[in-house]
Amino acid sequence: MINFSLGEEQKALKELARQFAQNEIAPLAAEYDREAKHPMAIIEKAHGLGLVNMTVPETYGGGGLGMMETCLVTEELTAACAGIGTAIMANTLALTPLFLAATAEQMETHVKPLCAGPNLAALCMTEPEAGSDVGAIRTTARREGGHYAINGTKTLIDNGGVAQLYSLFASTDLEKGARGISAFVIPTDLRGVSVGRQEDKMGQRAINTSEVIFEDVLVPVENRLGEEGQGFNIFLETLNRNKPWIAAASVGVARAALEAALKYAQERVQFGQPIASFQAIQFMLADMAIKIEGARLLTWQAAWLVDQEVRHTYQSAIGKCYASDIAMEVTIDALQVFGGYGYIKEYPVEKYMRDAKAFQIYMGTNEIQRHIIARDLLR
Ligand SMILES: Cc1cc2nc3c(=O)[nH]c(=O)nc-3n(C[C@H](O)[C@H](O)[C@H](O)COP(=O)(O)OP(=O)(O)OC[C@H]3O[C@@H](n4cnc5c(N)ncnc54)[C@H](O)[C@@H]3O)c2cc1C
Repeated sequence: MINFSLGEEQKALKELARQFAQNEIAPLAAEYDREAKHPMAIIEKAHGLGLVNMTVPETYGGGGLGMMETCLVTEELTAACAGIGTAIMANTLALTPLFLAATAEQMETHVKPLCAGPNLAALCMTEPEAGSDVGAIRTTARREGGHYAINGTKTLIDNGGVAQLYSLFASTDLEKGARGISAFVIPTDLRGVSVGRQEDKMGQRAINTSEVIFEDVLVPVENRLGEEGQGFNIFLETLNRNKPWIAAASVGVARAALEAALKYAQERVQFGQPIASFQAIQFMLADMAIKIEGARLLTWQAAWLVDQEVRHTYQSAIGKCYASDIAMEVTIDALQVFGGYGYIKEYPVEKYMRDAKAFQIYMGTNEIQRHIIARDLLR
């Protein structure tokens, strides 16, 4: 059976997120973007409504919900502001390595206290010399008795400067490359952990994106997630499971851009008529709608597969790649509908375009997504 309609609880959750996004986020989006301000007060409210840590099991203080629900909420939040929306959702990514590999004791020790309040987590993989090629990371975790000594620098880490907990990927054996990577859970108040430069980004400016530095950080062996050398697989599956909500975030931004363009096209008069009466503008609006509807279906398909706990690598890559590509196209076209006014900051569309760009880059660039898709096709 195929069913495209949402259940009553899903509809209610989507409506809750929509109201919250439109009332609490949208009015502040431009200010937080301009000032690159960390949206802590908004995250506190979102936490109070159960919109943070949605996929964490209820026993550990999360929502016990699925990726489908996460996608419904994410689209609403990022339609109001991609930076604030991703700041609210980033724990979903950062806690996935624990969801995949932590023992019940590790979940009790690290995840439960985190979820009890409006606390944040960050996932630390990327390094200055290792982006797409994660096997090239140089952060090391050297075993010393009952501890690991961690040394290295991570870069471009969302929530990096404001998190209470890191899921960290470091090499326990540099010679083994990707197969030498291990995963760890790191409270950010450990001695030797520090935050470096906060990046001045072109878009998604409300989420803190920072460098994180580890200098002789002593971490108990109990903080390792899974076995030594399992980190690469934990990381790949972490990305695969989280791509659907990045796709949903892209759909949210694209939807907001279309809504703004639709309104403007009916108000703006040139040659004695609204520009919406010109077929060139109508076709642009129609193409935007076609792309958004298609991207949402691919997003929901990928989310559904994640929730069914069946193989989702291929569909997650397609959903993330397509939705982020169309978010870029749709936001560029929305700006074109606004003409010269789209190019100035008084109107919201230039922000949508800046925000959309990041989705093509993180959670694996879209070139890497195409590698994953092609590998599956040629298998
Ligand atoms: C806003 C933002 C937030 C981020 N948040 C996080 C975070 O929270 N945690 C984290 O760990 N990282 C984070 N990142 C980092 C992100 O994951 C990396 O930027 C991304 O993986 C790409 O790595 P890179 O920037 O080093 O680019 P590179 O890997 O150097 O790639 C440069 C270009 O080459 C292309 N390329 C590379 N290899 C290939 C190949 N084999 N075939 C074809 N093309 C290729 C890429 O697609 C890209 O176009 C974030 C990045 C941004 C921009």
